[in-house]
Amino acid sequence: MRILISNDDGVTAPGLAALHSALADYAECVVIAPDQDKSGASSSLTLDRPLHPQTLANGFISLNGTPTDCVHLGLNGLLERTPDMVVSGINLGANLGDDVLYSGTVAAALEGRFLGGTSFAFSLVSRLPDNLPAAAYIARKLVEAHDRLALPPRTVLNVNIPNLPLEHIRGIQLTRLGHRARAAAPTKVVNPRGKEGYWIAVAGDAEDGGPGTDFHAVMQGYVSITPLQLDRTFNDAFDSLNGWLEGLL
Ligand code: MN
Repeated sequence: MRILISNDDGVTAPGLAALHSALADYAECVVIAPDQDKSGASSSLTLDRPLHPQTLANGFISLNGTPTDCVHLGLNGLLERTPDMVVSGINLGANLGDDVLYSGTVAAALEGRFLGGTSFAFSLVSRLPDNLPAAAYIARKLVEAHDRLALPPRTVLNVNIPNLPLEHIRGIQLTRLGHRARAAAPTKVVNPRGKEGYWIAVAGDAEDGGPGTDFHAVMQGYVSITPLQLDRTFNDAFDSLNGWLEGLL
């Protein structure tokens, strides 16, 4: 098997190296990752300039693009042989609830949808790398078990790992996405030449984070796995919208 590994923290991120190490003796791994931190890139593609892959000393391929660019190229001609699976991470920082809308980590996994199998996105609920070994161990266990999965195509498993050493992780819970409250207002800054700007603030707190949600699972010390699908059609809205459209034109 051939696994394409990517991330959004960038090609030099410790979580990427940890994920690669965990999978290197399990499958043939190719790493293609952004040359800089692209957290928050969601599923953006770079369309205004060419992309230049560069192979680094460790064999990882660095790309001047987004996580989605990396996987897109990896599955569409850059590599001699098409990978069988996409695995993304390990992100330093949670990707819970509304985060999946912005996450480049999740986006990289979503870009693997054409392969027909299940892609994985891994995030450690910490900005610090201390518990990456536990997260990498769990990533390996889950990827190894992929051949027993029977999910429809275009499915991503969004995995969030609590910031704990392995012996303190209580198990795995299947969860739904919770919701975050709105983020705080952007922080206004002024540069030395007097030009004003804004830093987008950190994500809001969990607003819907009760039992059954991804937020709750990691808070309780469990690995959270949320199955994500690409189809965001709101089927239950059809009845109401049919009434709304009646006689409109
Ligand atoms: Mn990130």
